[in-house]
Amino acid sequence: MAWGYGWSPYVPVAQRRRKAILQMKKLRNKGVEVSPVRVEGRQIARTFWGKAWCEHLEKFSDYENRLPRGRTYVRNGSVCHLDIKKGEVQAKVIGSHLYEVKVKMKTLPGDRWKAMKERCGGKVASLLDLLRGRLSERVMEVVTDRDRGLFPLPKEIALHCSCPDWAEMCKHVAGVLYGVGARLDEKPELLFLLRGVNHEELVGSAQAGSVIARGKKGGKHKKLSDGNIEEVFGIELSPSPMNGKQHRTTLRNIRAGKGGRRSKKRMGRYR
Ligand SMILES: [Zn+2]
Repeated sequence: MAWGYGWSPYVPVAQRRRKAILQMKKLRNKGVEVSPVRVEGRQIARTFWGKAWCEHLEKFSDYENRLPRGRTYVRNGSVCHLDIKKGEVQAKVIGSHLYEVKVKMKTLPGDRWKAMKERCGGKVASLLDLLRGRLSERVMEVVTDRDRGLFPLPKEIALHCSCPDWAEMCKHVAGVLYGVGARLDEKPELLFLLRGVNHEELVGSAQAGSVIARGKKGGKHKKLSDGNIEEVFGIELSPSPMNGKQHRTTLRNIRAGKGGRRSKKRMGRYR
């Protein structure tokens, strides 16, 4: 297990966690909005998209030796903040001090996205299937293709950290790269935002579009309509109108890929 560089003093996990929590409190007190990466247990990513992201990065020899140092960082809660935008990831990582990490990424070239859409043509049945990674083998092959898929190539990524031992990839940056995998477990649509493409374009069936209610920000936040979900996906939600809380929870779980026998079966172990 990598605990950092050879000369780094050993810091128990509980101590690191406490430090991260204290740091987040300080930031919040200053009015800084923080969105920490939470990993429960040893698995960094559990869903199709989260695991595919981590596995993709580990395919590159440029990264494979340096990435493992980030696993401990992301697992012990040191990634205090992580925000994914179009072409960029901004993060704050607590080490000896609080460091700012920036990962810039080229958006997906138009011709690559067009070719992917053509190769997936009509084979993604719904937006829910896409986001939950409920895809045919053919589509999985297309989206995870090392060179022609959705994930960025090292040459399309520029990394930066404010720490003093910054050299290509420090443990803070490595932690953030794994943190992206963990975040994609919760919000897989952020992968498409990061690459600057509209995920709805991969969905072959027109019916999926009818259950998407666009958010105020023009599609960045999308919700499945409660009214149509039962009809479209053939599931029964809570019948009691008094039980609104439970109803929302169910929907949230569905969107987060929790619950449902099928998704549990798919959950492999990621390290
Ligand atoms: Zn660093």
